[in-house]
Amino acid sequence: RPTVAFDNVVFGYERDREILHGLSFEVPAGAHVAIVGPSGAGKSTIGRLLFRFYDPWSGRILIDGQDIAEVTQESLRAQLGIVPQDSVLFNDTIGYNIAYGRSGASQELVAAAARDAAILPFIEMLPQGFDTEVGERGLKLSGGEKQRVAIARTLLKNPPILLLDEATSALDTRTEQDILTTLHRVSEHRTSLAIAHRLSTIADADRIFVLDHGRLAESGSHSDLLRLD
Ligand code: ADP
Ligand code: ADP
Repeated sequence: RPTVAFDNVVFGYERDREILHGLSFEVPAGAHVAIVGPSGAGKSTIGRLLFRFYDPWSGRILIDGQDIAEVTQESLRAQLGIVPQDSVLFNDTIGYNIAYGRSGASQELVAAAARDAAILPFIEMLPQGFDTEVGERGLKLSGGEKQRVAIARTLLKNPPILLLDEATSALDTRTEQDILTTLHRVSEHRTSLAIAHRLSTIADADRIFVLDHGRLAESGSHSDLLRLD
């Protein structure tokens, strides 16, 4: 259960356009944090920096106190799992989609997924259950089913840090709640950051960071934030 910290991070995609203006925050070990804020505030940028798709102009990003610029790409990747908004599935079996990207025999990985107490609930949430034999299913799944498969794929790696980048934003709120409640339950030993723009997504968060124009506008629990003004 690592801590994740941004320490005075300054970043922009283009030379003359700064997006994050000295952003600092700390996610305690094992906390489930929601990052909210208006479109364009810089929420997804936080994820891209955490994965080192880009490096900050200045400032540091720390996992368990260690600057991610100083660890290998492999060890960074091993710590992080991401579920994006529109997960891309292959036109193949659910099993293949869950095992994709992992080393090892697909059948063994699928069997391991089906035994894993964290992953099993997502497999069970699929309406037809978990049939590894039926082909050409990935593309026929609904949005909610696709996200369940994508979550199972990410959890198979058992990442200590989970980043949900609008992972449930495109779903109806009932499906979203089912997924998030389950994810929360199976992620007690994980540190998670959920990027979200709608309030229903943050119901399960321990702590909420409100980002505005590349700055941390507020942070706290639900009740802390409701007590403001
Ligand atoms: P949010 O996730 O809060 O909607 P983003 O982090 O995606 O915001 O974007 C923050 C700002 O950075 C926006 O003004 C956006 O237009 C800009 N931006 C995002 N990606 C790029 C990019 N690849 N190149 C240039 N500007 C970008
Ligand atoms: P793996 O260890 O299998 O590469 P990752 O969790 O690192 O798994 O990434 C899964 C997929 O998501 C990869 O294809 C990666 O390129 C993509 N990805 C990683 N970070 C982001 C991000 N911030 N936004 C969108 N896609 C991402």
